[in-house]
Amino acid sequence: MGPIGIFGGTFDPIHYGHLRTALELLEGLSLAEVRFIPCSQQPLRDQPIATRDVRLSMAKVAVESDARFSVDARELEREGVSYSVDTLMGLRAEHRDRSLCLLLGMDAFLSLPSWHRWEELIGLAHIVVAHRPGWQAPTDGVLGKLVREHSTEVPQDLSTSRSGRIFITPVTQLEISATSLRKLIRKGFDPKYLVPKGVGTIIAETGCYSEERIGCVND
Ligand code: ATP
Repeated sequence: MGPIGIFGGTFDPIHYGHLRTALELLEGLSLAEVRFIPCSQQPLRDQPIATRDVRLSMAKVAVESDARFSVDARELEREGVSYSVDTLMGLRAEHRDRSLCLLLGMDAFLSLPSWHRWEELIGLAHIVVAHRPGWQAPTDGVLGKLVREHSTEVPQDLSTSRSGRIFITPVTQLEISATSLRKLIRKGFDPKYLVPKGVGTIIAETGCYSEERIGCVND
């Protein structure tokens, strides 16, 4: 069985930047599947704008077209702050012998040392870092050391061991961010072609990013 890819995020909303990256990593690294895990509350960031239910619905509709993609709601079901280390420990307990690959954009990877118990992550999963425009792999500091000690350029290493390697790879660069999408929608523009059709429908129906924020008070 190939590795399980784990793609965490706020997904406020999920967009083609996330989906295309997940697909390229899945195919390029022979992952068996990718699980999208929306977080409830991220420790270092502002509260999401759309409710948990709306973000979950958008993620579910976004992955419908690919059977290798799924949504895992465990972080939304847990109370309080979402820590990746807890999520990975849970997944590791469920899949003792499987390779787990934590999929991150470079911006997320660069913030890793500020994550709760971040040094434990590499013992629980491989870390796969997708390049985004303008970001460089770290060479200095604690992350530079982590990369030097764990990095591999051989994709098969991610299948032959369960955890412990860092793989940094370019992906097609779609310069879409949830922040810019929300701004665009607030101004009344159509997010068509930046998000899957079903996601656009949920955004329109709930008004979750519109000026009035109809039905989207944070829970
Ligand atoms: P925001 O603008 O609110 O920061 P975002 O679009 O970056 O949101 P997140 O849910 O915060 O989305 O990101 C989840 C993960 O997806 C992170 O690892 C991030 O690096 C990655 N990611 C976000 N946008 C892209 C993109 N356009 N291409 C590739 N990866 C992306």
